[in-house]
Amino acid sequence: MVRHAQKVNDRVADRDFKYYIFDWDDNILHMPTRIHLERKGPDGIWKPHAVSTAVFAVVRNDRAHYRPPHGNWEEAFVEFRDFADTPESQFLIDTRTALQKLLSGETPPGPSFEKLRETLREGRLFAIVTARGHEPSALREAVRLFAEMVLTPEDREEMMANLRGYRRCFDKVKTFGSDEEEFDYYLSLNRYHAVTNPQFQKWMAREGNAAQAENAKQFAIRDFVEHVIRILSQTGADSLKRPISVGFSDDDLGNVQAVETYIQEVLAERFPGIKFCIYDTSDPTVADGRKVIVSGQMDFGF
Ligand SMILES: [Mg+2]
Repeated sequence: MVRHAQKVNDRVADRDFKYYIFDWDDNILHMPTRIHLERKGPDGIWKPHAVSTAVFAVVRNDRAHYRPPHGNWEEAFVEFRDFADTPESQFLIDTRTALQKLLSGETPPGPSFEKLRETLREGRLFAIVTARGHEPSALREAVRLFAEMVLTPEDREEMMANLRGYRRCFDKVKTFGSDEEEFDYYLSLNRYHAVTNPQFQKWMAREGNAAQAENAKQFAIRDFVEHVIRILSQTGADSLKRPISVGFSDDDLGNVQAVETYIQEVLAERFPGIKFCIYDTSDPTVADGRKVIVSGQMDFGF
């Protein structure tokens, strides 16, 4: 049997090192997941009232009119967790629904949707960092689903050529696995942090830097930057001399501000060679979000 020729893009060796950290909800996709609250009506009676993540961002501090059922936030966020007795993560189910609605034109893409597509096509490293509480595997499978449903055959071919290029130039491999194996390997290099997951919380309690009073998203971002540095240093000393940039996008202004401060006060000092960019995607009318360069001297077209 004649094997289909596998394209390899060796030019990835000369590329800049650009990596991305993505919030998921309302940044990549508008998900159908609901937060189960109670709302106080004009008659003073509390009634069940489920809201979207976008609405929740607006009403979360309005405690006079909104509250979790039985005063229990875990109950409010039940759709944001994975349970051992369910065959498929709610996150995966909701991602499929969100992608179907998007592809049929029913809902618009999130502001960073195209950036994730481009990141996958280029085969760059990324992290998903979300306030949800799912298992990392659920986030990874959602990215796989995104690739399956969103990438065109041309996108996929380009991605595979790039992934093989990275494998040859950085991992020094001479023969490649099947497309599925190489794509799996790529997915395994990325980070999937749902910061209210109990395992994540335990890990952070163990490894978190209490002196810096990091919040969970900050901790997850530091982990990704260290992860990227670790991978690059394994590929040879020269890699770390090249410009490296890390982008972070989130539609929650509170997160954007906390991360901006954290980068200025902690990460910029620890990683002076890295350029950090923040994309504030809180205004859905601004494609790709409002870009803030937090640190890094050079602008090389991030
Ligand atoms: Mg969000």
